[in-house]
Amino acid sequence: MLHDGDGKAASHGLDCAPLALHKPPTVIMRLSRYFLTTLKETPAEAKIVSHRLMLRAGMVRQASAGIYSWLPLGFRVLRNIENIVHEEMAAAGAQAVLMPTLQLADLWRESGRYDAYGPEMLRISDRHDRDMLYGPTNEEQITQIMRDDIRSYRDLPRNLYHIQWKFRDEIRPRFGVMRGREFLMKDGYSFDLDFEAAKRSYNIMFVAYLRTYARMGLKAIPMQADSGPIGGDLSHEFVILADTGESAVYADKRLFDMDPHADDVDFEGDLEPIFKKWTSLYAATDEKHDPTVCSVEGENLVEARGIEVGHIFYFGTKYSEPLGCAVTMPDGEKRLIHGGSYGIGVSRLVGAIIEASHDDAGIVWPDAVAPFNVALINLKSGDEVCDAVANDLYAKLSDAGVQVLHDDRDERAGVKFADMDLIGLPWQLTVGPRGVKAGTVELKRRAGGDKEELSIDSALSRILDFDS
Ligand code: ATP
Ligand code: MG
Repeated sequence: MLHDGDGKAASHGLDCAPLALHKPPTVIMRLSRYFLTTLKETPAEAKIVSHRLMLRAGMVRQASAGIYSWLPLGFRVLRNIENIVHEEMAAAGAQAVLMPTLQLADLWRESGRYDAYGPEMLRISDRHDRDMLYGPTNEEQITQIMRDDIRSYRDLPRNLYHIQWKFRDEIRPRFGVMRGREFLMKDGYSFDLDFEAAKRSYNIMFVAYLRTYARMGLKAIPMQADSGPIGGDLSHEFVILADTGESAVYADKRLFDMDPHADDVDFEGDLEPIFKKWTSLYAATDEKHDPTVCSVEGENLVEARGIEVGHIFYFGTKYSEPLGCAVTMPDGEKRLIHGGSYGIGVSRLVGAIIEASHDDAGIVWPDAVAPFNVALINLKSGDEVCDAVANDLYAKLSDAGVQVLHDDRDERAGVKFADMDLIGLPWQLTVGPRGVKAGTVELKRRAGGDKEELSIDSALSRILDFDS
């Protein structure tokens, strides 16, 4: 479970120690004071369900085409996704860094991509008329760091990543955060001595990606992919199925029954068997699909639309060669390093998860990414008994590390339930004047909608047992 705001250590996966000595006071998240504006009407500009729901649930607001402000509720989801990525990257041995968003054009001239990238790149000049750009990706920048910092073959392998805003001046920004111009990406880079070692790094990321998406409640299938402007010849896109997806995909049905957590993973060991298991069944995106190679037929072939939530590449010496990134071998020979890059669409994932998990009433957050775990609905705010029960529940849940949003507003029950269904927190715990007299509260699981009238203690332990 993730914690923040209540002073418990955020499990962000970064290498810094939590400051355990100082515990800030618990702040009650009262909806009456929370910055959340929900909309009843469907915004006309939103063409797909995730965009509609993100606007209606007050998660984001558009600043300009393809550029969004993240409001408190949306930002919490973004943070939760980031945290999962950090944790899984740490488990796989990758180290977090942070590179700047603005880069020197000269660096991109070295790789030849300054001209090759085209109008998607936002080009800027500073007061000294130096050409700069807002990074659409960071291969050049990380290669420059490596070039300056590593000397010997003993310095390899290395795997660094960051989670950082990117800008691509997409010709058609659309679908909200799914195809933005400014968007948050996790991009990671591996550096190895030769193909064999680089393939090991590739496998590590391949397996880490399977686990990362599964933790978010998604079925993301690795598919053979085109490597586009990043370049290279070994490449997989991680794709989730959705009718609103922008790519056509073709995959063996059996892939969708495979469990990413089925194998015990040792990131120091040989991951080739897991890689083989997933890639021996046919799966390809549009650009790579070849009906003459695809042996899957009839109903065993899933032909569907998909959302690309991640993309990994092995590109060998594509950047190390022009940028001169080499290490010295034991015999004094200089050898160019072999690189790979690994992207996750962090902000796109917020939309993608909603595409995969919603119903007519609103969003249905998977537990791992939900902005809060529990909606505590006080049906009679101001009533002494209801307030006391609600406050006590709030305290007990948040002491146990559960994130609670307390709806203490003076609103009709119907409005409160509709808002909570819309924002989709996994549990709704309702305190009402009739129930509290009998010592009961109502507990509803948002997914499935099962409701139960329970004693206060049973409701509490139902939530706590589920979460632990
Ligand atoms: P696409 O084919 O969707 O344009 P891409 O192949 O150009 O994406 P990559 O360079 O592989 O993108 O970027 C890594 C990840 O970043 C993608 O898998 C995707 O999830 C995300 N991403 C790319 N472009 C955007 C965008 N405009 N808005 C939001 N997320 C994006
Ligand atoms: Mg891609």
